[in-house]
Amino acid sequence: MSDTAAIIPAGGSGIRMGLDTPKQFFALGGIPILIHTIRVFTQSPSIGQIIVAVPEQYLQSTIDLLDKYALQDRCTVVAGGTHRQDSVRAGLKVLENNPLVAVHDAVRPLISPELIEQTIGKARVTGAAMLAIPVKDTLKKVNEQGGIIKTIDRSTLWQAQTPQVVRADLLRKAFAAADNDGFVGTDEASLLEHIGLPVTVVEGSERNIKITRPEDLLVAEALLHHEKSGNIDMHGLRIGQGFDAHRLVGGRPLILGGVNIPHSKGLLGHSDADVLVHALCDAILGAMGQGDIGRHFPDSDPQYKGADSLVLLSKVMDLAQAGNFSMINADITVIAQEPKLVPYFEDMLDNLARTCGVSRNVINIKATTTEKMGFTGRGEGIAAQAVVLLVKSCS
Ligand code: MG
Repeated sequence: MSDTAAIIPAGGSGIRMGLDTPKQFFALGGIPILIHTIRVFTQSPSIGQIIVAVPEQYLQSTIDLLDKYALQDRCTVVAGGTHRQDSVRAGLKVLENNPLVAVHDAVRPLISPELIEQTIGKARVTGAAMLAIPVKDTLKKVNEQGGIIKTIDRSTLWQAQTPQVVRADLLRKAFAAADNDGFVGTDEASLLEHIGLPVTVVEGSERNIKITRPEDLLVAEALLHHEKSGNIDMHGLRIGQGFDAHRLVGGRPLILGGVNIPHSKGLLGHSDADVLVHALCDAILGAMGQGDIGRHFPDSDPQYKGADSLVLLSKVMDLAQAGNFSMINADITVIAQEPKLVPYFEDMLDNLARTCGVSRNVINIKATTTEKMGFTGRGEGIAAQAVVLLVKSCS
């Protein structure tokens, strides 16, 4: 039942991180933090609409980013304000008919679908629920001179996390009251408290950290790495290989690894004929035991005419993700007499790593000629082969 809209305020400036770009766009394991966060929400069955509120100047770049990660169909992007409250208000304006709203910090990418579902489940019953964790450190009240005034009893203290899930009508009411009173809260629960509405706590996780400082990013990288490698079942390792070849003809662009390469000829095909990406797709599908690219994206289907093969690759990776597969490594060889491809490897790697959601060091690209022998040697076509290793995690 998709009865909940997610609003993800991503209005931070990244000042505390000492970065030029806001921290939500900073890479975690090779992927922007915001993309990690959105992906988790797409895995929660209760989530329908996903609204992302970003600073006005990042509207277009966010739309482009979602496009790159094939998330554009799931998300609505709006211009947020300077305060979190302004961003959430902007999100509420484009809310469809969802009875519940889950507000989640863009910079808490390690949230799990299970915790999102638990919080939503509680809010369905109580009207408003949020994640929080009991305070574990001893707390001191300190004066301006650094002297301790007293030790605070922490037994009833909890640290707020997100998501905070609220019935849409209650959240609208809380916003109207806050606007009327000029009240600014640091989270949605405080707006509800302001008008005396109860909010229930659901125990969150220490893993659900908020990335606000550079050291938080290190912790998040470690947690992410542990999550990926900690669940590996060695029996879940799957290898796949792919091979593809396309004919070189005049009047077509030459696209390899998503890069448009200047050449007198290009590859002929129903899609953009990106032979490198096709070989990689086939290798991934092979490892998953899911047939080949032709089965998933048939030549006869007009929607794939002239298709950007990176989009096909991202769909293949969606299948991999749905099957709990992640890529350990991929090795690709392009077989071409000409042109020289080495100058384009970096851009190709960027495209493939981004589309596959992996770090660049996971993928290797190389090229060879066939010493003028055979069809590739005569320049009649270009071929590519790929090998990938995937692992199926037992989650
Ligand atoms: Mg092909």
